[in-house]
Amino acid sequence: MDAEPGTIAGRVRTVLDEIRRAAVRVGRAPDAVRLVAASKTVSVDRLREAVDAGVRHVGENRLQEALPKIDALGREGIVWHFIGSLQRRKVKSVVGRFETIHSVDSLALAGEIDRQAKAAGLRQRILLEVNVGGEVSKGGFAPETLVADLASLNEFEHLDIRGLMAIPPPTPTADGARAYFRQLRTLAEALTARGHRNINMQELSMGMSHDYPVAVEEGATYVRVGTAIFGARGE
Ligand SMILES: *Cc1c(COP(=O)(O)O)cnc(C)c1O
Repeated sequence: MDAEPGTIAGRVRTVLDEIRRAAVRVGRAPDAVRLVAASKTVSVDRLREAVDAGVRHVGENRLQEALPKIDALGREGIVWHFIGSLQRRKVKSVVGRFETIHSVDSLALAGEIDRQAKAAGLRQRILLEVNVGGEVSKGGFAPETLVADLASLNEFEHLDIRGLMAIPPPTPTADGARAYFRQLRTLAEALTARGHRNINMQELSMGMSHDYPVAVEEGATYVRVGTAIFGARGE
């Protein structure tokens, strides 16, 4: 999506307003949806503008980029999320520094987070990333095997598994993603019904700049929005 005109503060207000309107359209409570500002490549100063305009949740993709931002902006009034692909050797530094890791895409990664959380004496809040499109190029749990994987995940006592995350395959229109969002919600409901002790599927992290209103209509509790707030990243 192209950079939108206006200021970061103005765009934050627009996105928050769109979230509220989408929630109201389907009879959901607007405050059930949290805006996570996806701030990869965004400078501390521009991120501060977004925080001053009402952003409370910030999502970073890379540890090295996130650490100086966390140092500069602190944790007072900001909840830090890890949303990028996470290498196993970085897990030790990510655990405990981010409230929620959205991008847990394999049993092996979940196991390493559990191990490091145990060593740090904490429980790490995570979401499971699901490959809703079944794309071979993408990581993530397969929807078909997640029920079976859940039994293994339930053994990890230092994980607080709160829900699912997805990045659907590109679709020509925002509405094209609706079926994928619905699939993720249905999957979360099916998993909840299994009643695992350490697993609670109430969070759905789905929707980005081009389709977050559709995601809200389909039950998102987190939307991860970058471009619509900060403008194009020049990718
Ligand atoms: C960059 C990013 C986003 C935000 O994407 P936009 O299209 O800029 O809103 C959301 N989720 C993840 C995992 C990302 O890396």
